[in-house]
Amino acid sequence: MGQLVNLKCNKCGYETNLSIGSGMVFNNLEQVITFFDKGTREKIRDVVNKGGNRLWYVYKEIARCEKCGKISAIAVFKTTDADGREIVFNAKCQCGSSDIQLYDSEKISEGKEKVFCPICAEELAVTEQGHWD
Ligand SMILES: [Zn+2]
Ligand SMILES: [Zn+2]
Repeated sequence: MGQLVNLKCNKCGYETNLSIGSGMVFNNLEQVITFFDKGTREKIRDVVNKGGNRLWYVYKEIARCEKCGKISAIAVFKTTDADGREIVFNAKCQCGSSDIQLYDSEKISEGKEKVFCPICAEELAVTEQGHWD
């Protein structure tokens, strides 16, 4: 189950609603692989094929594009290699850049991490609005 979150700037009025976390179909590689660009899809297929039954998961996380500053829900693919090292691929921003800063929505809800307004740099208020499947 995923979460619906609202990010709002109380200074300039900027506001965005994001669907983050993991949905019911997110354990289906053919469904989730469409979130990623062609090059990343190949890398994901490569590690999944090589890994045999290796566990992987996909979720969406609050992210900020380092290029255009847009805050959006970006798909993240995570698995580990044979030595237990974490392998992470993230989807691209709408602007086409893969230079993405991923936040940790749990830390944000605990107040340990902050997201700042892309327009005026004020801290954004993040509130959970509900859930999605
Ligand atoms: Zn961007
Ligand atoms: Zn603002």
